[in-house]
Amino acid sequence: MSSLGRDLRIDEVIAGEARLSGEGAVRLYREAPLHDLGRWASDMCQRIHGSRMRTYVIDRNINYTNVCSAACTFCAFKRDLDEPDAYTLSADELYRKVSELAAIGGTQILMQGGMHPELSIDFYEDMLRRLKAKFPAIHIHGFSPPEFVEFVAVFEIDGYPTPGVKRSHELPIDVWRGKLEAIMRRLQAAGLDSIPGGGGEIFAEHVRRRIGIGKASAAQWLEVMAMAHRLGMFTSATMMFGHIEGLRDRIDHMLRVRAWQDRAIEQDWPGRYVSFIAWPFQRENTPLGRLPEWDRESGQVFPGDELAELIAAGKVSALDKGACDAAAPRAGKVARMAGATEYLRMQAISRLLLDNIHSIGSSWVTMGPKVGQLALFFGANDMGSVMMEENVVSAAGTTYCLTEELLCKLIRDSGFVPAQRDNRYNLLRVHDVDGPDMQVSDWSTQRARKLHIEQRHAAAEGETSNAVTLTIQSDTAR
Ligand code: SF4
Repeated sequence: MSSLGRDLRIDEVIAGEARLSGEGAVRLYREAPLHDLGRWASDMCQRIHGSRMRTYVIDRNINYTNVCSAACTFCAFKRDLDEPDAYTLSADELYRKVSELAAIGGTQILMQGGMHPELSIDFYEDMLRRLKAKFPAIHIHGFSPPEFVEFVAVFEIDGYPTPGVKRSHELPIDVWRGKLEAIMRRLQAAGLDSIPGGGGEIFAEHVRRRIGIGKASAAQWLEVMAMAHRLGMFTSATMMFGHIEGLRDRIDHMLRVRAWQDRAIEQDWPGRYVSFIAWPFQRENTPLGRLPEWDRESGQVFPGDELAELIAAGKVSALDKGACDAAAPRAGKVARMAGATEYLRMQAISRLLLDNIHSIGSSWVTMGPKVGQLALFFGANDMGSVMMEENVVSAAGTTYCLTEELLCKLIRDSGFVPAQRDNRYNLLRVHDVDGPDMQVSDWSTQRARKLHIEQRHAAAEGETSNAVTLTIQSDTAR
């Protein structure tokens, strides 16, 4: 064990007998050799998950609408209501997508949209009820916290005010919580099973106000998840890093997740965060991606780090925009992109820091299959989903897509047995001897596939609904 490892009592952290502090995480990022980080995170992963199996899930991302009232600077997906390629899926289209998923043995859908300002709670209840009636075995993992925050703003619910688009924050907190609970209970009763951790990005307020324009604050995001946990739903947490944020902002983000999970455990809420996944920002087609890139060789302190350090030292309030701008005028004006090693470092640190979160997911969708495979040696126990369809990250330039056979092969080639799981990480099929990858005799037919991406036909004359006809790209090999 290195002196750094001894200083931070890494052996005890791995054994679950001590906690890594935020300061310890900063030191790990700055001082630990990459291979030490990988070994320590792997050891912790093995303590929690054993050394035999690594998991994946078969689900489908369904982005039911790209209409969104927010204007996040990292987003290439959202459209305004009146844009020609704005869409909201019809019920028939949803059914067809879920049928395709069921046909390949899928078990869940991940359903997220933009924050549509004009859909009512009746639309969502109807959609959930009809999906559950038609596909009772499919788990519905849907509606990220920013969508819930907008639901509180725009849904008309008896006994509660309706402040209007993006004005959720104007409600007194107890009214806001009451309305959120009423909405969440209704959607849960209609068939919603769990909530995905989309929209987490970076919680630090000084970063969030620059990148997540018009969507949930960090406090609202965490409150939505706490409500879900109180109501017995299991959720994930996410982090999108590698843009304007400082290192301490990333650590602060993970510590907030850990603290709220501690609270859920202490209060014995029936739901929990069950997984965490972090990925680097994808810059293509996004306003944030047009920021000049930080020159790592300049020898100067990255402006995002400069501001994060001042805030951590209590010298500037993250909530005071003027003070932040004055203290670090270049913060937010230059981006520090994250590559493969930075991704692996952060993932390893997330495993060591988030000792109360069951699963750490590999982000092969953004990093590519090979780095995603390497992530299994940096603390990840789960390869996520066979990706039939994805529209949000792919709009920003990511197009990786794998079959179940390829996903199993990546896991097996890493020395683990692939196992299909459900949303709660229960094992459904363990592929010791008969894995999908073992049936393949010609791997040239199993190359990476095109993602299904929604494309809108020109609206028919006289069309009044914003439900659209869609062009479906077949999942054929490139
Ligand atoms: S990231 Fe989500 S909330 Fe933000 S603009 Fe895009 S669709 Fe809307």
